[in-house]
Amino acid sequence: MSKVPYKIYLSENEIPRAWYNVRADMKPDHPPFLNPGTMKPMTLEELEPVFCTECVKQELNNTDRFIEIPDEIRNFYKMYRPSPLVRAYCLERELGTPAHIYYKYEGGNTSGSHKLNSAIAQAYYAKQQGLKALTTETGAGQWGTALAMACGYFGLDLTVYMVKVSAEQKPHRRAVMQTYGAQVIPSPSDTTEAGRKILAADPNNTGSLGTAISEAVEVALQKEGTRYALGSVLDHVLLHQTIIGLESKIAMEKVDEYPDIVIGCAGGGSNLGGLMAPFMADKLAGKTAPHFIAVEPASCPSLTRGRFGYDFCDVGHVTPLAQMYTLGNGFIPSANHAGGLRYHGMSPVLSQLYHDGYIDEARAVTQTEVFEAAVKFARVEGILPAPESSHAIRVAVDEALKCKETGEEKTILFGLTGTGYFDLTAYTAFNEGRMTDYIPTDEDLEKGFATMPKVSL
Ligand SMILES: *Cc1c(COP(=O)(O)O)cnc(C)c1O
Repeated sequence: MSKVPYKIYLSENEIPRAWYNVRADMKPDHPPFLNPGTMKPMTLEELEPVFCTECVKQELNNTDRFIEIPDEIRNFYKMYRPSPLVRAYCLERELGTPAHIYYKYEGGNTSGSHKLNSAIAQAYYAKQQGLKALTTETGAGQWGTALAMACGYFGLDLTVYMVKVSAEQKPHRRAVMQTYGAQVIPSPSDTTEAGRKILAADPNNTGSLGTAISEAVEVALQKEGTRYALGSVLDHVLLHQTIIGLESKIAMEKVDEYPDIVIGCAGGGSNLGGLMAPFMADKLAGKTAPHFIAVEPASCPSLTRGRFGYDFCDVGHVTPLAQMYTLGNGFIPSANHAGGLRYHGMSPVLSQLYHDGYIDEARAVTQTEVFEAAVKFARVEGILPAPESSHAIRVAVDEALKCKETGEEKTILFGLTGTGYFDLTAYTAFNEGRMTDYIPTDEDLEKGFATMPKVSL
């Protein structure tokens, strides 16, 4: 067999024509979203005022295995996809491992991450429906940037509620969003009732994704022709991200490889869900399948230390209840946490798959360990990775080092979700030895759990 090239490219024609809906194969499917007022499953009619209608249909679809990608979305994809699948020869050599390491790099577009894959789909469906505007929240800024690009492309107005601490740390993110025409408001703000309530209770509140979501949803519900768009967690977002895994699988087949281990960082869970979905299809069908590892920050450990139960997706309790691993909607990660992945909950799909043992493992890693791996990777592979992505790098390196011990030639695939160009404040803190780790105590976590609603079904 000839040597596997460094980069395995697919042609434009090989971009998948449909997303894969893993829920159609899950037994059991995850429990439905509940209306917190009635405790009954949310219906299309109840969700339509919040999200654009096609996204709600996808959200409620647990029967169609494949959902066609409209040509206009697929044509946009062609501007930055297929994304490269890279054989990490230089990292393998650096580690002295017999493992074959592959990564799928999603940071090559202006938004700098995989989030554009869903942003363009959500903006397209909003435009099709004749809507005028979208609202959203953003934490680290990648999602806001991706949606700003997508709304700019389709001529939709966009208001982005940006977690205050991130807005202060990342002024350049704000500049990019504004360049694409978005209005950016640090959250909590005085522009919404939810924001004013939070500020009244705590004027120094530095914000969280949950808070920003409350504000964005409130505005979407009040303004004519406006809907809310979410960048992770929900099933339709995970669906759009399956483009990552579908492309990866095709590319690996070309070089006769199949992963023994699939690793992804887990924030809201959409990128990992998307990367692993087509391989998970094998597992759900009872075939040989990879060992799946979800990696999360030790400072925001929803899978490894969270509770599996119904919780609100936001602090202001304007969203439906979702059954998921959660730290409680009131959980706010420590302010010294620089690495993204700050959301209190986890995708219901990922949560259910983890609960049922289909995702084999979740690991929590500290941010200094993560940045050590990031720097090692950057120096040999040339790409400056996003801190979020570097959670996956950390565990990929650990697994490759295990192979060095045992002499096993395992094939490892991980998701390199984005670039670290906007995270230089965090890199500087690490380089100057100022980065610290904070691991919440059980007591800290109890405070978050106490904010979960009491749901008895
Ligand atoms: C948003 C983001 C993540 C987290 O993705 P989820 O799909 O929410 O788990 C990871 N990496 C980068 C670069 C991101 O921007």
